[in-house]
Amino acid sequence: MALKTFSCRVLSKLFNHGVIASTNPLSARDAAAAAAVLGRSSVRGYYNAGKPRHTGPGGAAHARVVDLRSDTVTKPGPAMRQAMAEAEKIAADMFHMEAALFVPTGTMSNLIAVMVHCRERGDEMIVGDLSHLHIYEQGGSAQLAGVHATTVTTLPNGTFDLEQLESKIRHGYPDPHYPRTRLICVENTHNIQGGRVLPLTFLQEIRALADRYGLSVHMDGARVMNAAVSQGVPPSTILQHTHTVSVCLSKGLGSPVGTILAGPRDFISQAVRCRKALGGGMRQAGILAAAGKMSLLEMVERLEEDHLQCKNLCSSVEMAAVETNILRFYLQESSLSPPEFCARMAQVGEGEEAALGQGIQVLMYPHFGNSVRAVWHLGISHEDTQLAIQKMQFVASQYSKEKLRAQ
Ligand SMILES: *Cc1c(COP(=O)(O)O)cnc(C)c1O
Repeated sequence: MALKTFSCRVLSKLFNHGVIASTNPLSARDAAAAAAVLGRSSVRGYYNAGKPRHTGPGGAAHARVVDLRSDTVTKPGPAMRQAMAEAEKIAADMFHMEAALFVPTGTMSNLIAVMVHCRERGDEMIVGDLSHLHIYEQGGSAQLAGVHATTVTTLPNGTFDLEQLESKIRHGYPDPHYPRTRLICVENTHNIQGGRVLPLTFLQEIRALADRYGLSVHMDGARVMNAAVSQGVPPSTILQHTHTVSVCLSKGLGSPVGTILAGPRDFISQAVRCRKALGGGMRQAGILAAAGKMSLLEMVERLEEDHLQCKNLCSSVEMAAVETNILRFYLQESSLSPPEFCARMAQVGEGEEAALGQGIQVLMYPHFGNSVRAVWHLGISHEDTQLAIQKMQFVASQYSKEKLRAQ
């Protein structure tokens, strides 16, 4: 059949007249020929959305293209394109990494990092037992990447015992009994441990250990900017000790969505593939990236304010070890559970308006290990912090009074 020689217009007529109908499948050879006419690779069975091969009937270079192949062929305009490239470039420069990639969430970013670092079946990573990666990401590394994890004990300041860490490294490869250790993951600041900042010496030691055994170091740096501000160093001083990092733009830095994954150039080009496979290849990401750019350029310095407020509150509840914007605390009254405490903080109690001059609702969550967590961010003013302190004192005194009355 000489379908190959037909022009697109003729082919479309054939479609219109039911000569070639979707309910009337072409033979494989005909389909291949039709595909060739339409500019589709019969091998991939997929239209290359980026570059139309046929400019139109006759293929004249100046012809108008009306691209009805899909609604996914829309492209970011110049401003969007520039915003995306800029956000990634700004991040890479800031972190002193070769390249960076904008991804939707921190969870996806960590998963991509694990997938790229642990590429072979049977690869293993070492993570802290209280890390976000291990606790809060649904075991995606096992579930979706097929990567085995072994844990080390997360110490109260977010670090690991280096001897324990070293003891977890597998040495058996290529003995078929063992997985092969590939990756060490650290978290900075540490979420569950209450925003703790990893000491630079610890990172240096981790990196030395990793280098000795040919392993990679990935930092879940969702809040690494808080760490940098707290330590008074540029983020690159922290990240010089890691191969890759994931940094959330959507937390203290205020973007509506987005995380930056950064690392060596070849790592990032692999990461682009993984991002697509995981459904994170966003089409019109320019607007989001523009927000991310603002986060990186304008929102870092103000993190200091969150840290001060957080410490402000903790001085009133005698909390130690608050280094950044997260306050994790335990209630002295063991009969008052974290959920009940949070409920009391969130509602306007009896006599509260008289005592405090107004009702104050303070929202916080019960957290890991029977604790309560409060996190400071750009939506919280100095006055808000003072109100939260007043409310805490009110809740505490009300609770003691009720307890006394009940006795
Ligand atoms: C929030 C967070 C993540 C995940 O980010 P999402 O954008 O919520 O997926 C990862 N690690 C840490 C330490 C986090 O706090």
